[in-house]
Amino acid sequence: MENTLYIVVPCYNEEEALPLSAPVLLAKLEALEAAGLAGQESRILLVDDGSKDSTWDVIKSLHDHDKRFAALRLSRNRGHQNALLAGLEYAASHGDVSISIDADLQDDVNAMDEMLRRWAEGCDIVYGVRSARDTDTFAKRFTAEGYYKLIAALGGEVVFNHADYRLMSSRAVSALLEFPERSLFLRGMVPMIGYKTATVEYERGARNAGESKYTLKKMLTLAINGVTALSAKPIRMIAGLGALLFAAALAAIIIMLIDGASAAAVAAVSAWGAAGLVLLALGVVGEYVGHIYEEVKGRPRYFIMDKLE
Ligand code: UDP
Ligand code: MG
Repeated sequence: MENTLYIVVPCYNEEEALPLSAPVLLAKLEALEAAGLAGQESRILLVDDGSKDSTWDVIKSLHDHDKRFAALRLSRNRGHQNALLAGLEYAASHGDVSISIDADLQDDVNAMDEMLRRWAEGCDIVYGVRSARDTDTFAKRFTAEGYYKLIAALGGEVVFNHADYRLMSSRAVSALLEFPERSLFLRGMVPMIGYKTATVEYERGARNAGESKYTLKKMLTLAINGVTALSAKPIRMIAGLGALLFAAALAAIIIMLIDGASAAAVAAVSAWGAAGLVLLALGVVGEYVGHIYEEVKGRPRYFIMDKLE
């Protein structure tokens, strides 16, 4: 079996992190080749997700110095998940196996050896799973772990504490590409593929340079996509809540009639509460309707503007 590896790295405004990350990735690639875990044609594929800083210039000079740096440049910022998928698609058509990793190298590159060994044993997907969240603030850890639990409770199949540090064989990527949805939540979609899978633990560090490119808005979008992409349970829960509320209101009215009391104040307050609930319910339903609209339009996920191969 050929074992051409593509390390896929989405990059958005990473002019600070890339110069630090690139040599580390290259050294890792060489070590993997020396250990016989990756073939000589292996590449580091940098995907510029429409950066507004000098990221593309950094990428070009990396490629000029070493042709093992390949690159794709998207026509505009399409977000991490789209950029990653663009890279995976290219990797699957040029190599045998890919490993995706963030440009800030928060994920330990040394977990790649174990991932590739698992692949050699016949696994098509190997999830990088962080063993500790020591480097996260309490708030981040609390919300992130709570979110994984929420998704699981809603019936979504996600690997606990796995983000997008993952090995995928080319046939697993091909399977992923058959999923037509536009709102991507890759870590929720990949487990639906099947095949033989494994997990590899590693410790996640801090970003090596620059600031997080995941704005609160981007993070919320991803989180909401995760729920709506994996489960229709929230809509059902809303229907349940509505039924419960209706029953409670009916009971209250009966009690008020029996008591003959003028509970005007109570009624006013509960009207506000009911209005809030209705709006919340509408919002959740609207979220799904919005997604249906997006999917029906079926717009292209990305356009590639430049390639360095
Ligand atoms: N990223 C991207 N497009 C975006 C935002 C982020 O390609 O619109 C990339 C970014 O360059 C990095 C990865 O996604 O390689 C994860 O981003 P970041 O490390 O900033 O997120 P965090 O670790 O803070 O959640
Ligand atoms: Mg990061």
